[in-house]
Amino acid sequence: MSSLRDLTTTSDYDPNSMPVEKARAHIHAFLSPVTAVERLHIRACLGRVLAEDVISPINVPQHDNSAMDGYAVRFADLKTDGETALKIIGTAFAGKPFDGKLSPGQAVRIMTGAVIPMGTDTVIQQERARSSRDAASGDQVAVMPVPAKGTNTRRAGEDLRAGEAALKRGQAVHPAEIGMMASLGIGEVAVYRKLRVAFFSTGDELTAIGTPLGPGQIYDSNRYTIHGLLMRLGCEVLDMGVIRDTPEAVERAFQDAAQAADVVITSGGVSVGEADYVKQILDRLGEVLFWKIAMKPGRPLAYGKIGHAHFFGLPGNPVAVMVTFYQFVREALLHLQGQTRVSPLATLKVLCTSPIKKAPGRTEFQRGILSQDASGQWSVRTTGDQGSGILSSMSQADCFIILSTDLGNLPAGAIVDVQLLEGLI
Ligand code: AMP
Ligand code: MG
Repeated sequence: MSSLRDLTTTSDYDPNSMPVEKARAHIHAFLSPVTAVERLHIRACLGRVLAEDVISPINVPQHDNSAMDGYAVRFADLKTDGETALKIIGTAFAGKPFDGKLSPGQAVRIMTGAVIPMGTDTVIQQERARSSRDAASGDQVAVMPVPAKGTNTRRAGEDLRAGEAALKRGQAVHPAEIGMMASLGIGEVAVYRKLRVAFFSTGDELTAIGTPLGPGQIYDSNRYTIHGLLMRLGCEVLDMGVIRDTPEAVERAFQDAAQAADVVITSGGVSVGEADYVKQILDRLGEVLFWKIAMKPGRPLAYGKIGHAHFFGLPGNPVAVMVTFYQFVREALLHLQGQTRVSPLATLKVLCTSPIKKAPGRTEFQRGILSQDASGQWSVRTTGDQGSGILSSMSQADCFIILSTDLGNLPAGAIVDVQLLEGLI
């Protein structure tokens, strides 16, 4: 599909009742990830996305080495039905190999990580060996049998072979990936540049923090929530403040934002009544679709392009902002950052100890609090009142209770799907 507007001609397209999954898929089809690349020290890459495969220049591990403290032996020397007495001829330490070669009947004391000495192929862990000193013949060890040659050894290249891609382009860099690159001796890598995201709030009732509230006014909280969410995702942010509810101010803000950023996010102004002139402006400036998502909270959602920028018009209600960000924007931003495999957010099935009020026909994202009983069993309860303006519910919650479209009211004791908030971003 070449244009967003083509979407509106497909037979199952209904902007007034857009299922969550469909909205996600429609958005995904139009994402164009950043392509600019920069080379950074691996420490500076946390949260970035790899712009190249990372090829291992070495075998990991480089040598066959011991997985245990014990004795390196020749498997062929071992009796299968009882202890074998061997002569100890030296010690192999991690980073300080034993240089000699072993002959039949000999063993070397070996530490974890030490190179397997020449002539040996198997390690007997020290708990299965008894060493003794004999005045005539020196140090001896009696070792118990093991089932197979190679027991307690780690083979060269078993983690990674030289020339193999240790990490793939499009992979997000977490602490494990930074450690992996360091383990290969790689200090710098190419990553995609940060995504630039501009955002603003709209509404004449919004007051900046630091100013006393006038009658009917509220503080602008969405801009701060969105800032936090974007920082967690490693975006470069451009906070454009509060834009007054006038067509001129709003048009100007959209133009400036779309020129400066890869993504524009707004909150408020997309609900019925308010949306009208915003709609006209966005029609002129770009291709934007206004959806009523079959979900609660977060029904109104606008998505489209303004120039080259992707645009997300989130609802005004503070909880709806967070829910729509987690359910649509998060995944889209990860794709735009260059991630090629964005895993779906995991859901867990948990017993819900409170009854749930839910209307069929829409997906609900209620806020939940998890707890663990004495036997280790997890359960969830709702935070209580689920109004979409009650931001304290998001702060108390540690999960969303996701109630699928067809579900209605649920009694206490039902099994529900939950999505953890910590770890989402
Ligand atoms: P709207 O979509 O603009 O009609 O806003 C819906 C509700 O969200 C109204 O109660 C607004 O006052 C509130 N709201 C809109 N923007 C913000 C914001 N930036 N911070 C806090 N509340 C907001
Ligand atoms: Mg408004």
